[in-house]
Amino acid sequence: MSKAIVSSLYDSDVFRMACRQFDQAADAINLPDAIRDRTKYPRRCLAVSLPVKRRDGSVTVFEGYRVQHNLSTGPSKGGIRFHQDVTLGEVAALAMWMSWKTSLVGLPYGGAKGGVIVNPNDLSESELEHLSRRYMQEMVGFVGPQTDVPAPDVGTNEKIMGWMMDTYSNHVGHLAPAVVTGKPISLGGSQGRREATGAGVAYLVVKYLADLKIPVKKATVVIQGFGNVGSETAVALDRYGAKIVGISDYTGGIWNPKGIDIKKALTYVRYQKTLRDFDGGEAISNEALLEQKCTVLIPAALERVITDQNAPKLKCRLLAEAANGPTTNAADKIIEARGDIEIIPDVLCNSGGVIVSYFEWLQNLSSFYWSRDEVLEKLFAMLDKAKDAVDAQKAKFKFSRRLAALTLGIQRVADAKQSRGLFP
Ligand code: NAD
Repeated sequence: MSKAIVSSLYDSDVFRMACRQFDQAADAINLPDAIRDRTKYPRRCLAVSLPVKRRDGSVTVFEGYRVQHNLSTGPSKGGIRFHQDVTLGEVAALAMWMSWKTSLVGLPYGGAKGGVIVNPNDLSESELEHLSRRYMQEMVGFVGPQTDVPAPDVGTNEKIMGWMMDTYSNHVGHLAPAVVTGKPISLGGSQGRREATGAGVAYLVVKYLADLKIPVKKATVVIQGFGNVGSETAVALDRYGAKIVGISDYTGGIWNPKGIDIKKALTYVRYQKTLRDFDGGEAISNEALLEQKCTVLIPAALERVITDQNAPKLKCRLLAEAANGPTTNAADKIIEARGDIEIIPDVLCNSGGVIVSYFEWLQNLSSFYWSRDEVLEKLFAMLDKAKDAVDAQKAKFKFSRRLAALTLGIQRVADAKQSRGLFP
């Protein structure tokens, strides 16, 4: 009989949510007590203070974190988030989900996540560079190509990954491109990485629409979040022929039942930075947008936006979780009881990002680079395999699709821990 003696270090709504998901999955596969808590709790974390000199000569100290949830199945892998609401508990939950995701899709990785409490929009370019470099400088002994490999997440991008790679390389005394993924192509980034997460989401949406016998050209789509993942999902689904009727960012939403011109929205955001006052449709609040009638609803922003309040009011047929953790445990129960909405759970739905990050890491380690077509072909093959595995597990055990995906991911991590044993 094992018993965890844990502090409240990670305690938060989102960490409790990830733990509840774990508990349900562990119960469903009768995970032995002796392995449960070892598999559930993060392995280790680092919290750092990051002083940055501001434009006016003052110094601001930012707080940053890195949580490595699981290192038993390979180097840990996961993005770094720059957002004003980041907490250690959120980072720990995101790290836990990365463990199940890398395991589910069969990557030789564990799970990790990083975060800094900052609104990157409040920083000048040079302040952002100093913050990013300082963060990596503090992480030099904690991350590495064979230890923990960060990537972009909310509020971070290729440019930031480039600065971090340069900082790490300067510390170790040689070019070390495999220390982070999601880099610019000129620094060893992979063809197809920028669009990988969105392309993967769109690919799976099209596959599940086919299973539901809904022609993609008849599907209407609402997407919350128009950053890397949301916008690339919109571009890909637009290309497949779906009609994007709603998009949004933190400033609010745009609704247009005739279809939004995605190219125009992208150009607008490139120059204006946000969708505020975009004239491609009517303005609508983020809350109302989620409740609009559509075939596919795609949360692609932050966690816990589908709640027990709006779950009964959703009017979609497919809920594709491009964001990590968008659906609370209570909302999940409501959707399952309704029985009229299919969910593509986050650990499957957005796994295209980490799959192509893996390809980038492989290319960096071998200094042998692939074409975009090669990257996408391998990505879609891995997504097909993961989808088939999840749907087979769902059918075999009569699980929800989320439970099917989580049990597959958790079992592999638990098996590896069991086989490795306890040291010493
Ligand atoms: P991003 O920073 O590029 O974009 C985030 C978007 O969400 C922005 O448009 C922002 O305005 C919007 N947003 C923020 N708060 C909002 C709110 N309250 N309401 C509506 N919109 C809001 O981030 P991203 O990389 O696109 O990540 C989005 C989600 O996808 C996150 O959950 C992230 O963890 C997940 N994810 C990202 C990747 C990746 O490769 N970047 C991979 C897998 C999963």
